[in-house]
Amino acid sequence: MAKLEIVTYPAEILETVCEIVTEFDRRLVKLLNDMYDTMLDADGVGLAAPQVGIAKQIAIVDVGDEHGRIELINPVILEARGEQIGPEGCLSFPGLFGEVKRADYVKVRAQDRRGRTYTLEATGFLARALQHEIDHLHGVLFTSKVIRYYEREELEG
Ligand SMILES: [Zn+2]
Repeated sequence: MAKLEIVTYPAEILETVCEIVTEFDRRLVKLLNDMYDTMLDADGVGLAAPQVGIAKQIAIVDVGDEHGRIELINPVILEARGEQIGPEGCLSFPGLFGEVKRADYVKVRAQDRRGRTYTLEATGFLARALQHEIDHLHGVLFTSKVIRYYEREELEG
C-alpha cells in the first residue's frame, strides 16, 4: 500500500465528470487500498478517485461507525429524503469549512471491489459523507453548495 498525493483545488480533474468503472481487476483493488491509506493519513472520512488524479467513479467512505470501510464503485443515489444542515470540509480544500444542506437519508446503489452490486441506506453524517463523495464523481464540489463559510474563530472555538 502507498500514500497517494491529494489534488487540491483549483484543478480541472476536480470538476470533471468521471468515467464508469468496467474492469474490476487488481489495479482497482490496489487503488482502493491506497486511497484508504491516503484518507486515513489525511484524517478524512471520505475520498474520491478524482482527488488522487483519477477520473473514474470510485470513492471510499469511513466515518468511524459500524459500517466501517465503504467502497463505492459506480455509485448512484436511488432515493434521498429529508434535510440536514451541517459543517463540511474536503481534503481538496485544506482548512476550508462551510455549512452545507444535504438530504438526511439516502439509499445508494454501488458495486464493490469485485463488481458485485449492493445497496446501502444511511442517515445523518454518513449520508452527508456519501453525498459529498458521490458529488465528486460528477465534478461537483462542496463549495458550490455552501450556505456560509466558517470563520477561523468559530472552528477553533
Ligand atoms: Zn471532498
